[in-house]
Amino acid sequence: MVRVGGHFHSDNPLDDAVASGARAAQFFLGDPQGWKGPVIPGGDPAALREAYAKADVDVYIHAPYVINVASTNNRIRIPSRKLLDQQLRAAAEVGARGLIVHGGHVTGGVDPAEGVANWVKAIERSERPLPLLIENTAGGNHAMARKLDALARLWDAVASAADAAGTNGGEVGFCLDTCHANSAGIDLADAVDKIKAITGRIDLVHCNNSRDEFGSGADRHANLDAGTIDKNTLLDVVRASGAPAICETPEPGLADDIAWLQANV
Ligand SMILES: [Zn+2]
Repeated sequence: MVRVGGHFHSDNPLDDAVASGARAAQFFLGDPQGWKGPVIPGGDPAALREAYAKADVDVYIHAPYVINVASTNNRIRIPSRKLLDQQLRAAAEVGARGLIVHGGHVTGGVDPAEGVANWVKAIERSERPLPLLIENTAGGNHAMARKLDALARLWDAVASAADAAGTNGGEVGFCLDTCHANSAGIDLADAVDKIKAITGRIDLVHCNNSRDEFGSGADRHANLDAGTIDKNTLLDVVRASGAPAICETPEPGLADDIAWLQANV
C-alpha cells in the first residue's frame, strides 16, 4: 500500500505524524530559509532513526529553499553545494528515504544550459548516501524544473551524470509537487505519464492543492478540498504515480488531508 504522510513543522514531527496517522513524515533539518548547517530534531540521529523505525513512519527530509545549485553566481552556487552535501549526510544519518531539493533557477539573461551544467557538476561532486529527489517548482521564467521542456533538458543531463557517477551512491530521483505543476501550467490529467516519459520515475508526490489558478506561477499550497484543483484529480495523480505521497498543506487541516488521501488512495 502507498504510504501517505505530511510535512510537519513542529520540533517533534514524529508526535505529529503519529497523532495524524501518517505513515511518512517530512521535515526540515534546520532553518529552511537559512544557510546554517543542518539541525537534527532532538540532537541524536541514531535515536531519531530508531524512534521512526519503531513507529513505522518513513522519513523524508526537505532541503532548505535557499539551495540553488544551478546558479551561475558563485556566492550562491558554492554555499548551495556545501549545504546540499551537509543535508545529504544529515538526512542519511536520520535514516531518510530521500532528500528533496528544488530544481533551482538561473537569472534572466543567463543561458539555462549553464544552469544545467551546474547541476551536472553538483551531481558529479556530491556523495549521495541516500536518494536525492529533485522537485519541480511553480514559477519563474528561468527555472530548471518548472515546465516540462526545461525538465527534459535538465533530466537528460542529470540522469547521465548520475549514471556515470555511480560510485557516488544514492540515485537521483524525482518529486512531483501537484500545486507547483498546476501553477507551472502542467495539466495534472496526464502529468504523471508525461513526466515518467521524461524521468522514467516518480519517487514521491507532494500532494497539495493550490490557492491560485492554473498557470499562475504562484506557490501557495491549499488543503485538498480548499483549492482550485479538483481533489479527485490529486488523488488520480497519487494513484497513477504509484509513489508515496506527502501533504504539505496548511494547519489546521493537514491531518484531515492525510486521512482522506489514506482512505481513498
Ligand atoms: Zn513541495
